[in-house]
Amino acid sequence: MTVDQLSDRDRELLELPLPELLAAARERRDRVHGSRVTYSPKVFIPLTMLCRDRCGYCTFAQPPARLAAPYLLPEEVLDIARRGASMGCHEALFTLGERPEERYPVAKDWLNRHGYNSTIDYLADVSRLVLEETGLLPHSNAGALFEDELAQLREVSASQGMMIETLRPDLDCHRGAPDKLPERRLATLEAAGRLHIPFTTGILVGIGEGRIDRIVALEAIAESHRRHGHVQEVIVQNFLPKAGTAMHAVPPCPEHAYLEAIALARLVLPDAVHVQAPPNLSDDFGPLLEAGIDDWGGVSPVTADHVNPERPWPALDRLRAETEKHGFALAPRLTLHPEFVRHPEAWLDEALRFPVMDRADAEGLGRDDPGAVFPERIEAITAEDGAEVRQIGHDSTAWYSGAPVSPSDLLGGPAAAGGRLREVLDGVLEGQEAGADELLTLFAARGPEVRAVAEVADELRRRVVGDVVTWVANRNINYTNVCTYKCRFCGFSKGPLSLNLRGTPYLLDIDEIAGRAADAARMGATEVCLQGGIHPNFDGDFYIDVTRAVRDAVPNIHVHGFTALEVTEGARRLGEPLEDYLRRLMDAGLSSLPGTAAEILDDGIRAELCPDKINTEEWLEAHRTAHRVGLRSNITIMFGSIEGTEHWVRHLLVCRDLQKETGGFTEFVGLPFVHMASPIYLQRRARRGPTFRETLLMHAVARIALHGLIDNIQGSWVKIGFDGIRQMLQAGCNDLGGTLVDENISRAAGAEHGQSAHESDFRTLVEPLGRTLAQRSTLYGSVDVGSRLEVNRSDDGRLLIPVVGA
Ligand code: SF4
Repeated sequence: MTVDQLSDRDRELLELPLPELLAAARERRDRVHGSRVTYSPKVFIPLTMLCRDRCGYCTFAQPPARLAAPYLLPEEVLDIARRGASMGCHEALFTLGERPEERYPVAKDWLNRHGYNSTIDYLADVSRLVLEETGLLPHSNAGALFEDELAQLREVSASQGMMIETLRPDLDCHRGAPDKLPERRLATLEAAGRLHIPFTTGILVGIGEGRIDRIVALEAIAESHRRHGHVQEVIVQNFLPKAGTAMHAVPPCPEHAYLEAIALARLVLPDAVHVQAPPNLSDDFGPLLEAGIDDWGGVSPVTADHVNPERPWPALDRLRAETEKHGFALAPRLTLHPEFVRHPEAWLDEALRFPVMDRADAEGLGRDDPGAVFPERIEAITAEDGAEVRQIGHDSTAWYSGAPVSPSDLLGGPAAAGGRLREVLDGVLEGQEAGADELLTLFAARGPEVRAVAEVADELRRRVVGDVVTWVANRNINYTNVCTYKCRFCGFSKGPLSLNLRGTPYLLDIDEIAGRAADAARMGATEVCLQGGIHPNFDGDFYIDVTRAVRDAVPNIHVHGFTALEVTEGARRLGEPLEDYLRRLMDAGLSSLPGTAAEILDDGIRAELCPDKINTEEWLEAHRTAHRVGLRSNITIMFGSIEGTEHWVRHLLVCRDLQKETGGFTEFVGLPFVHMASPIYLQRRARRGPTFRETLLMHAVARIALHGLIDNIQGSWVKIGFDGIRQMLQAGCNDLGGTLVDENISRAAGAEHGQSAHESDFRTLVEPLGRTLAQRSTLYGSVDVGSRLEVNRSDDGRLLIPVVGA
């Protein structure tokens, strides 16, 4: 092709001086991807190094005589994969030569002896094995394939790839390579698109092709993507001569040509296509970032890059340091990019959907807590109350909510924020209210950016509530775990209609509830928190009777009780307006409402999580009405199951709007989803809770979003653990919640952080941070420390003072 045959736009790009071209590419990357640069933590599995092609630059392909065996055995494959999974990889990249059985009898014999017709058959089988045993997501890089082969691999691979390399048909380096014919490469790319396979492709720069050839190849990829939407990334790889190859004496790809090709890729390809440069093929990372890439491709902590073994992969720490030095934040991704992760029905075989979800975070990137994420399987369910669902297989070592694992220290390093994030944080510090876009930007923070968000949240906390960290002496009383609702996340409820998996059904009688409240008061509690399932036998009077009984037993105890669902349902069952019903609850002694049953305030998400529960507007209306009659309440969010960060933003904004209207919320409480025994997780339809970074950001961003409207941000030590809460306290939190004797709901979902804490535990946590611990009342007033509320019951449960009207 000649330059005259290019489009006007492409001709203009080729005519631009290199500095201008690079600047345009950078500007496009910054606009589309901001400060984020991704990489895929992976292991390389060289399934076979035999290949029927002979490419002039290749050191990967070997003749049979140089190999101990034609193919890796399944146990060898699994051994590599297990090591990768243990080190925190997300991807198993199968690298292999093209159709070796068509050139080497030894390959054909091996396959036949092992029961396979082709290399692709064997690849499909070991991919399935790796997926099932380790949870690593297979990505197959098997060269030019036919549609049926791509379809076969789609059932076991989360993504696939094949370099286009070049569309020049006449290059010397491809003379012995029948699979490198341009039409074969393009046909494979097209077939992958028709099959809805998230696909990685790319070009090789410096193998004899020219500038026009590169732009032609990039345009062909762009066109295919426009037809099918399947090209997730384009690798722009520079040619380096290698000893022992036909091209050993050919000069390496000049840097200016390489950088120009990267910039052209960024400018020619649609915005949705990520541009990748492998970091191990360049000594200096900075120019690659300056040319417009947003992805480093695979980085392995375990195996060498078998395609370029003479160039060791840079240590991840170095990659991170270099990326951050240039003002970017590094984020691990899965083998498929978030745009595909977040639309699994369109892009993934059903068998891959949960394994992908299991490793994803709320943005569709890879979970970034250090450690292993092995598949979890249930071995046994015991039916006693509080019984454990036992997991089998390898133990995951990464942090998740409720697990007895310390999170990594996210705050121990310098803070940095540039671009849009810097603008948002500066605006917040100047008193601007963060809107939806700004909050989304905050939730996307990674690495040093997380520290920058935490610092601002900490500063706002200091301005509003100073250095005091509060707690409340309370007791949770979950009076029944029988529930007519079918919340799919709920591991607590039992009942004929619920997805119950653990424990026996129970219902405390009213006397027992009052007795527990009396015991709590004797131990120093100032509050009882009453919540439970929606028992089929309850009418609205149950809640009124319980409240009255508790207040009869302990007249001055603060009854913090009944979710928006409970009061809405109580009023409905009595056929009474909610406002009247809430007034009667207040008359009986109800003091405030907990903000639970909010989960995620987005009806699309609620349709999946809790389809028969109150909807967003009903939750808001219950709190609006409560505030109107004089009951205070709080905001909760249960995050990290199926929703995305945009849903977190919506949740915060609808609550903020209501607070502007009523002023009735006292605090925000972040409740990370505890996945271990949650039905929706066990049914393979949810993530395994938020990552620790997400948990920290939730509290920090809530502090920022609600600044000036809600002063108190609470971290749940039951779900996050003390090591995690220590970091929350430096990221906007000022409250530890309650001592929580008898907290059953988190435990029922598998949390392992215990049932109670003492003031001394809180003091040990708070004082090393230079903060002051203070006990508070439920509504953040002072309490008479050391005093006990008057109790109208004897230890054996008898009422000591007859109650008028009882
Ligand atoms: S979350 Fe509450 S309403 Fe839903 S099933 Fe569990 S106990 Fe019932």
